[in-house]
Amino acid sequence: MTSREGILLVVSGPSGSGKGTVIGRLLERRNDFVYSVSATTRAPRAGERDGVNYYFISRDEFEERISAGMMLEYAEYCGNYYGTPKKEVYDRLAEGKNVILEIEVNGAMQVREKCPDAVLLMIAPPDFATLEARLRGRGDNVPEEVILRRLEAARYELSQLTIYDYIVINGNNQIDDAADRIIAVADAERSRVARSGDFCERFFSCEA
Ligand code: 5GP
Repeated sequence: MTSREGILLVVSGPSGSGKGTVIGRLLERRNDFVYSVSATTRAPRAGERDGVNYYFISRDEFEERISAGMMLEYAEYCGNYYGTPKKEVYDRLAEGKNVILEIEVNGAMQVREKCPDAVLLMIAPPDFATLEARLRGRGDNVPEEVILRRLEAARYELSQLTIYDYIVINGNNQIDDAADRIIAVADAERSRVARSGDFCERFFSCEA
């Protein structure tokens, strides 16, 4: 017996944790998980598509959506708004899908407050040296000050670990293992007695 409603899974992790790749692998493997497409005011990067990676909208539009109560959570990050459209999340959960929010820590804290049933999971590198090597090894000519800012942001994000329920360490070349661990968490959470709804009522009311 598992809950009929899906699990709301908040996944955070600093730049260089590999969270996007891990989530991508998980989604390839399991079609009962869906990715919540966020809205953002930042410009699309090369290859990003509206409605797939993000909904790219203006600041005015974003602020209207906040006022209209359409955002489950939102945060300002590096000068841009990022937020989770509420309706899509609730619709997919009601369909029984596990919904993944790939969001930063301030948004995760808001979800924790608003949705006590949500499961918060941090994807982390094995250690700081590995994180630094990954950020420097991307080969996209990122200026030193940007690398240092990302490392500082990573320290902050990982310092918030105690608000999360689970940590998944993503070691080098361990994408499948990390994806497996997230799947294991969601499957176990789904079997919690607290999520079994009216199981006892239905079972015992049918006694001969
Ligand atoms: P990027 O600009 O690199 O795509 O994302 C920057 C950060 O914003 C990442 O940590 C990402 O997880 C986070 N983010 C993406 N969408 C959302 C969202 O809807 N809400 C919040 N709070 N953070 C988000």
